[in-house]
Amino acid sequence: MSVVRGSLPTRNMNYARFLTAVSAARKPSPIRMLTELQQRSPPSLISLAGGAPNPDTFPFESAVIKVKNGPAVTFSQATMKRALQYSASNGIPELLTWMKNLQKDLHNPPTAAYSPEKGQMDMCVTTGSQEGLCKVFEMLVNPGDDVLLDSPTYPGTLAALQPLGCNIVNVPSDQHGMIPAALKEVLSRWDPSDSRRPKVLYTIPNGGNPTGASMTAQRKKEVYELARIYDMLIIEDDPYYFLQFDKPWAPTFLSMDVDGRIIRTDSFSKILSSGLRIGFVTGPKPLVERVVLHIQASTMHTSTFTQLMVSQVLHSWGQEGFLQQIDRVIEFYRKQRDAMVSSAHKWLTGLAKWHAPSAGMFLWLELTGIRDTRQLIVEKALEKEVLLVPGDVFLINSDEPCPYVRAAFSLATPEQIDEAFRRLANLIREAA
Ligand code: PMP
Repeated sequence: MSVVRGSLPTRNMNYARFLTAVSAARKPSPIRMLTELQQRSPPSLISLAGGAPNPDTFPFESAVIKVKNGPAVTFSQATMKRALQYSASNGIPELLTWMKNLQKDLHNPPTAAYSPEKGQMDMCVTTGSQEGLCKVFEMLVNPGDDVLLDSPTYPGTLAALQPLGCNIVNVPSDQHGMIPAALKEVLSRWDPSDSRRPKVLYTIPNGGNPTGASMTAQRKKEVYELARIYDMLIIEDDPYYFLQFDKPWAPTFLSMDVDGRIIRTDSFSKILSSGLRIGFVTGPKPLVERVVLHIQASTMHTSTFTQLMVSQVLHSWGQEGFLQQIDRVIEFYRKQRDAMVSSAHKWLTGLAKWHAPSAGMFLWLELTGIRDTRQLIVEKALEKEVLLVPGDVFLINSDEPCPYVRAAFSLATPEQIDEAFRRLANLIREAA
């Protein structure tokens, strides 16, 4: 994967500048530190420290989980004891190492070779990428801060950001995501040395939820350069990275990160399991450490059981097997996407407008002649037995009327999608 390097000289980041008072005040838990130390020690160590329960008292003994494309995941009695026990807050070491290698191989981040203080690439496991995002926002966003993002956006992001009392500033976007010229225009409200300038920019670079938009390499490069000028961090929320239908995949922000200003969230939800809740935060060590301190104080760690289960599968597949799994998933969603786009052409031509997504699970439809889709969906869609998400839930201000709806092509069969669009067409005709 090619790496796009910035043109400004590398900057020494002052990470303390970005932290909220809450995040800066977090201290390592002494007990957690002991637990982690104990888990790295040889078995001859006799520990009376820590408060771990005795797993011999637990009812679960062993497990064999069949895997579709590879050997079964087997939890011997010893592994099961480990799976049922507390573990390190940043994630179990074998999963972290596997993922760090993958991240380096896929993105070749310049920061991988940096010293820790200079923003060396680090990672932690999170309980889905949602946990990572929520904790990253809490680490960086103060009440009254201006936070930049391209709306419409993922409601989970708005749910995590809005209660922090920040001012969410929309950066206009199109079918290729955030528009760099528009970002430049938005940023021109501030001087690059103004202490009140935005510190954080958030975007979903691939298969955006809800728009399906994916950013080109050139756009990312321009956005990264603007982030450098204004010394902003970029949160690259990329759960649909592995659901890009066309190769080669565009380089990520992480791959361009000469300064150590990218915080990337990855997710296994769309490719291995959403219910296991496995995600990752990748970013400069001083910031990932803050996220881990928050984890220490909240969930303590992502389930050891699910981490071990995923780690075993990854180790038995190797990177090649993992990428084969990704290809199978992509093939599935590509067919689903094609089915949805072809049904849209068949039933919705003249009644709606859309762009075929090159990644993700969603088609974003602008309904012709409908000012606000909320009423249509809430009052009439169920009558016609078709359900879509009204577009306003993805807006910064959900009171604004919105002519869009989001259709997911992940779960319904091509036949159901076709029938759903036939029903939607009738609904639009009656309402317009
Ligand atoms: N970001 C985006 C853009 C998403 O669409 C989702 C899931 N819908 C998430 C983050 C959270 O995913 P998870 O917590 O399951 O990894």
